[in-house]
Amino acid sequence: MHARRNGRHDRPHRYAANSRCAQGNARILLTNHPLDCPVCDKGGECELQDMVFRYGAETSRFIEEKLHVPEEKWSEAVYYDAPRCILCFRCVRVCDEGMGVKALGVGQRGVNSVIIPNLENRLNCVECGMCIDICPVGALTSGTYRYKTRPWEMIYEPTTCAHCSNGCKVTLSIRNNEILRANNATFPESMATSSARRAASAMTS
Ligand code: SF4
Ligand code: SF4
Ligand code: SF4
Repeated sequence: MHARRNGRHDRPHRYAANSRCAQGNARILLTNHPLDCPVCDKGGECELQDMVFRYGAETSRFIEEKLHVPEEKWSEAVYYDAPRCILCFRCVRVCDEGMGVKALGVGQRGVNSVIIPNLENRLNCVECGMCIDICPVGALTSGTYRYKTRPWEMIYEPTTCAHCSNGCKVTLSIRNNEILRANNATFPESMATSSARRAASAMTS
């Protein structure tokens, strides 16, 4: 007999099964993942880290050597680290459906699948940075922010960019009174433009 809550039966066995599924998914995502959290820009604000912490997939069952490919610089604004990519395709969708630029796509197949830029090994786009913001892991990193600090060392200030009349909502990430990053962290419904990000970058230099 199941306990009743809010007029509905709880089903602990179903929740346990869901947790085991999520744990299995996390293990699969970690198959070739480098687990370089201590140096990864996303460490501390990474959805994969949170998932592993929540469902407990900290011990890998894979003993084979992990596939590794070097990081790529696609433009001054965007870097791509393929082994960290979990192929969620959020970046492809936001570039297509959000920005209407269609600069990102998927190359190869199966375990060799990777995200690819529109010009073979570099990006020709408006460099809005939305793909970096929406990436749940540290696969896409920002040329102006990468390896400068850790997320827990900063304070976050929501504001409105005054660079032009668009009035984009941006979140400034600040450490020691220095602006290190501008993104849409606290305004997920908003699209901070490349101008807003560059204006913040200019303030840091
Ligand atoms: S993407 Fe997340 S899980 Fe992977 S190395 Fe970076 S912080 Fe760690
Ligand atoms: S920076 Fe903007 S335009 Fe360029 S690939 Fe990313 S989402 Fe597309
Ligand atoms: S959003 Fe990040 S993790 Fe998802 S497919 Fe793009 S690069 Fe990979």
